[in-house]
Amino acid sequence: MDSAEDRLLEWLARRAGASAAAPELQIGIGDDAAVLALAGRWVATTDAVVEGVDFVRPGASWRDVGYKAMAVNLSDVAAMGCRPRFALDVLALGPGASEEDAREIVLGIEEAAAPFGVVLAGGDISASPGPTMVVVVLLGEDVCGRTLTRSGASSGDEIWATGAFGGSILSRHLRPAPRVDFALALNRRAPVTAAIDVSDGLAKDLSRLAAASRVGARIEEALVPVHPDALALAARTGKTPLEHALGDGEDFELLFVVRPGFEELVVQIGRETSTPVRRIGLATDTAGTGAGLSIVCMDGNVEPLSPAGYSHDWTRSR
Ligand SMILES: [Mg+2]
Repeated sequence: MDSAEDRLLEWLARRAGASAAAPELQIGIGDDAAVLALAGRWVATTDAVVEGVDFVRPGASWRDVGYKAMAVNLSDVAAMGCRPRFALDVLALGPGASEEDAREIVLGIEEAAAPFGVVLAGGDISASPGPTMVVVVLLGEDVCGRTLTRSGASSGDEIWATGAFGGSILSRHLRPAPRVDFALALNRRAPVTAAIDVSDGLAKDLSRLAAASRVGARIEEALVPVHPDALALAARTGKTPLEHALGDGEDFELLFVVRPGFEELVVQIGRETSTPVRRIGLATDTAGTGAGLSIVCMDGNVEPLSPAGYSHDWTRSR
């Protein structure tokens, strides 16, 4: 009798054969390695989703787990202004996960990948003596003739964000909406100078972008998009909704910087791609102030903003 692994691999190969192919993929699932004939410029990224760290069971369904593993990688490729194209996935199944659960994980990966035409080129299924872990490797094509980075912002550029922030732990973190279409249109049409996706908290990832660009950043409290989940969570934690919006992680929204004077264009691109966007602040000169981040409060006072976003705490289950 076939092992569970053989059955799963056969199932995967059948699914891959039935799904849309890409001309660059000369050999896909079923051989020792995939063969890709790639021309041009590509970005590559990988991210792991680990039981007890990035999801907890049974709160997350196995399909959610697969979806998240793919979506977080899609978000990274979007932040680089590229089109996600090919993926490899690794499933390391813990003692609590069955063959059927593995199929659910793969279906979740496919669910997240399908809207963007990402092709699964290969992968591996293994066992873990501890937590279940799903790793996706994602290749993205530079279809705009330039990649976005964290490092190109200048003083005077405007800081923007997609979506809304805070409280994603209530469930949103399992099902983020990768801003791929918006990022591609933005990269193609607007003078974007820097971008990052928000995985570890708005303030923290803003501080990373500012540091890479060697600028300061001043955002306005009144403009920070606070997610309803941040309000719901604040009612339980005693923190303010703003603190959750600035400090929580796993929003997987896009934080980006555009030359001044393009507000109408950015809003238009948001409308065309059904993506909420808002200007939240300004890149500033660091000269003299030594300041990194600051926030203009509702009362008009300007206060320093701590980059204390969410940090991975390896000892704590989330
Ligand atoms: Mg990222």
